[in-house]
Amino acid sequence: MATIAAPRLLPEVERFLATSPLASVIGGKDVVGSTGRTMNTLDPGTGAPLAEFHVLSAADVDHAVQAATRAFKASGWATMAPNERGVHLHRLADAIQKHKPIIGEIEALDAGKLRAHAEGDVQNCIDTLRYFADMAMHVQRRSVLAVAGHEAWTIRHPWGACGFIFPWNFPFLLIGWGISPALAAGNTVVIKPAEDTPLSAIYLARLAREAGLPDGVINVVAGTGAEAGAALAGHPGIRRMSFTGSPDVGRLVGEACGRNLVPVKLELGGKGAAVVFDDVDVPQTAQKLVNAITFHSGQVCCDATRWLVHRSIARQFTDECVRRMQAVKVGYQLADGTGMGPVVNAKQRERVLAYLDKGTQQGAEAVLPGGPAQVPGQDGFYVKPALLAGSLDNVAAREEIFGPVAYISTFASEDEAVAMANDTDYGLANSVWTSDLGRAARVAESMVAGNSWINAHNLFPRGVPYGGVNKSGVGGGVNSIETLFDYWRSQSVVRPL
Ligand code: NAD
Repeated sequence: MATIAAPRLLPEVERFLATSPLASVIGGKDVVGSTGRTMNTLDPGTGAPLAEFHVLSAADVDHAVQAATRAFKASGWATMAPNERGVHLHRLADAIQKHKPIIGEIEALDAGKLRAHAEGDVQNCIDTLRYFADMAMHVQRRSVLAVAGHEAWTIRHPWGACGFIFPWNFPFLLIGWGISPALAAGNTVVIKPAEDTPLSAIYLARLAREAGLPDGVINVVAGTGAEAGAALAGHPGIRRMSFTGSPDVGRLVGEACGRNLVPVKLELGGKGAAVVFDDVDVPQTAQKLVNAITFHSGQVCCDATRWLVHRSIARQFTDECVRRMQAVKVGYQLADGTGMGPVVNAKQRERVLAYLDKGTQQGAEAVLPGGPAQVPGQDGFYVKPALLAGSLDNVAAREEIFGPVAYISTFASEDEAVAMANDTDYGLANSVWTSDLGRAARVAESMVAGNSWINAHNLFPRGVPYGGVNKSGVGGGVNSIETLFDYWRSQSVVRPL
């Protein structure tokens, strides 16, 4: 199919893309790296190359960790008063705010996001930066301990150079969630973005330089997971590590950090449930869950992908969902009226389609079969929303698909619903839908996961900790005061009286 002309881009975005092949940023300087290799990042909506970037090697990652370590020791970042660091971080947030339409467009193009969603991610990053910058000013880092016969206190210090590896589904938002507490606490950072979506991280590093952050406080190393990612995770100079991505790679990162005795946060995948009781407003609940599963084409770690529905409303609920999923307009992410854009690449499209095949082969009913979607004039990676139904031992109900595919199963009692929700290796986020708030609280607390939501799915008010258990993550999660404390190491000081 012929590809039609790309939409008119903002002149600043054109200028940024024209600097391709894009360099990474280490110690405040553009770095093309030592491999001499470049890779393309694609526009998932057209399937065509969007920009080229330099691929960094393990040796380049080593330089980045050294630059971050130097900045930690000598730039004054780690020792400046939190309110002074706060000024820097608010200045960076101001710069991001000023460039929000530009970063939003870059992110929309690179990750296949609708413009409004991409700009929402940018705003989320800004708000997270400000949240942690302010928190760090007000939190007491020194606590006096009442101990008989001694003067004693604890003090918290930043760790040093911290490593961050991010996935492609929420590149800019997750950078905000990851690095904001680390920076506010006085650490320096090395960021390895996903090879599918490196652009917004590179743009951020350039902005940080313009905003006057000391060189080396934010370093970005674009490259492959197998080389740059592995080099960062296993670097002995990293003092703390954070990884967001799949459980399989999370294990590798955890192993590497274990060998170096480096504390690590792993934010991994999910297979969340939505438990829908028979006292809900069925059309409204169906709409909210369809919105959630089609948001960013279902490439959302905490999505409700298993819809557990009381059997007395299952028929009505299913019909309401099918009607709404069929009405979702699949289209180019920057085209007016698009309700759902592409998935990120051809591999992801194949993964989604393969799970539909495997699921139906194992006996799931294809209530809405999904499949590849054609978008006139575009060769991008489009799939239709799909709805399967059946028992929870099906592969499509057990494994993370990461696409707009939901799986319906029915239950008859509250206990059965809770047991079904907990019948998974994952433990990221679930929701319960009912007008009985007593039952809502009971079920919410019984579901084994980091997060339970009531009558909503995908809720992220800042200050509420977000993280996973079991195969969905270890290490404390993100987005709350605990996260800030994670980025300080604690020391006790004692003197006999
Ligand atoms: P992925 O694990 O394939 O890749 C994530 C990152 O790891 C990328 O930057 C990649 O280059 C890097 N990487 C790959 N191999 C590596 C290695 N050997 N050593 C070090 N780094 C390596 O994940 P993905 O496909 O980019 O993202 C999808 C996954 O991320 C899903 O499982 C999703 O649920 C999860 N996710 C979780 C959260 C959360 O907050 N829990 C948020 C977003 C995404």
